[in-house]
Amino acid sequence: MTRYEAVIGLECHAQLLTHSKLFCSCSTRFGDPPNMNTCPVCLGLPGALPVLNRSAVALAVKAALGLNCKVNALSQWARKHYFYPDLPKGYQITQYDRPLAVDGSIGKVRVERIHIEEDAGRSLHEGFPDSDKYTFLDFNRSGVPLIEIVSCPDIRSSDEAVDCLARLKEILEYLDVCDGNMEEGSLRCDANVSVRPAGEAKFGTRTEVKNINSFRFVRKAIDFEVHRQIEAIESGERVVQETRLWNSNTERTVSMRGKEEAHDYRYFPEPDLPPLLIDDDTVKNAQRSITEMPEARRERFVRDYALSGYDAQVLTATRALSDFFEETVRSSGQPKLAANWIMGDLLRSCKDSGQDLKDLSRSAVSPAMLGELIRLVETGAISGKTAKTVFDEMTRTGKPPAAIVEEKGLFRISDPDEIERLVDRVTAENAKTVEQYRAGKTGAFGFFVGRVMELSGGRADPSKVDDALRKKLAGR
Ligand SMILES: [Zn+2]
Repeated sequence: MTRYEAVIGLECHAQLLTHSKLFCSCSTRFGDPPNMNTCPVCLGLPGALPVLNRSAVALAVKAALGLNCKVNALSQWARKHYFYPDLPKGYQITQYDRPLAVDGSIGKVRVERIHIEEDAGRSLHEGFPDSDKYTFLDFNRSGVPLIEIVSCPDIRSSDEAVDCLARLKEILEYLDVCDGNMEEGSLRCDANVSVRPAGEAKFGTRTEVKNINSFRFVRKAIDFEVHRQIEAIESGERVVQETRLWNSNTERTVSMRGKEEAHDYRYFPEPDLPPLLIDDDTVKNAQRSITEMPEARRERFVRDYALSGYDAQVLTATRALSDFFEETVRSSGQPKLAANWIMGDLLRSCKDSGQDLKDLSRSAVSPAMLGELIRLVETGAISGKTAKTVFDEMTRTGKPPAAIVEEKGLFRISDPDEIERLVDRVTAENAKTVEQYRAGKTGAFGFFVGRVMELSGGRADPSKVDDALRKKLAGR
């Protein structure tokens, strides 16, 4: 295996978060009944003319800047021709020799180009009556705005490919340009894969693997394809340049069609749209709208809040989660405790309730509530153990912690008289153990502490219980 090196490039399609399509005002909503969101433009009816959606361009520019690309002042729309039932016009409006942006990066992987294009419709092969006889077409997706992000062939393993895709997803989500939902197809990935003998500078013949719609499958599809190509070369066969489809059921790639060359598509400039001009103001506005990127935020968390690299990584998994953390810190003044609560109890409760970490606005617990809870523990008003109970109650009821503590009488018991009463009761109930303790079996001390704490429902102040017990047992 080590005699060969894999060379991988990714082509990712990301759906831009607009309300309407790229060239018409139809809705982009996912999951609507088939063909509900269509019009003459996105159905490709004769004579219908495209009108560019400016907000799609603004999002694409933002994505390009977030991926460190140079945005071209002038880019050109082009028609890419191919026949497919879900492409009623017979061509797709995209960008070809003059794309929106070039020369960016995702970590150490270079981005060759980013261009804007419209999506095609969907062919549905199952789930309808007579599915065995017919293919059904849904044009709701037809004309939805995409950006295609093409990486340079800088990736050398499936691990690196997964890492690159994860970073891309995270950046697009942080920028709020794409929801990154791979199950719904708003982020899709194709991989160009070839192998060459280790040390060889020339690239081998590559195949393009399409239809990889999860991280797990990116890894499996690339690994399968690399092995397949090495085996072919080892047995003296030739790797054929072609497009292959990843089949997630058989976990194999299968030949789909010979690889098209650009000239097969008969690209030409789109005559119905003028060139796309991006002025300096548009770029500056987009630049201004870019908030801190995940990598920078992680570094700042480590620096400013003295978090470990691991904690910073977990807390920046989504922008919503890292915002939640920072607001909790502002409210509590306790970064380390805020991190512990969020990484432990909050994430667990989100997991249990199926809460999406990309949108915590509907979470029952707000940063202000968690901050208040942390302060209650810090000021000694409640014990750490009680805090867990209060947290559970918060997630159930959405009530603020102080109200829960008040309502359920959970305040810490630090009144000396009250503690003395508890100590008296425990010693009276365990007179024999007290005798043994006084006779030298001092190991029983922990037992008394445990009983008093239990009796107080975990609310007694442990250090005060300790003092009161020592006095009592010493017979003072
Ligand atoms: Zn339409």
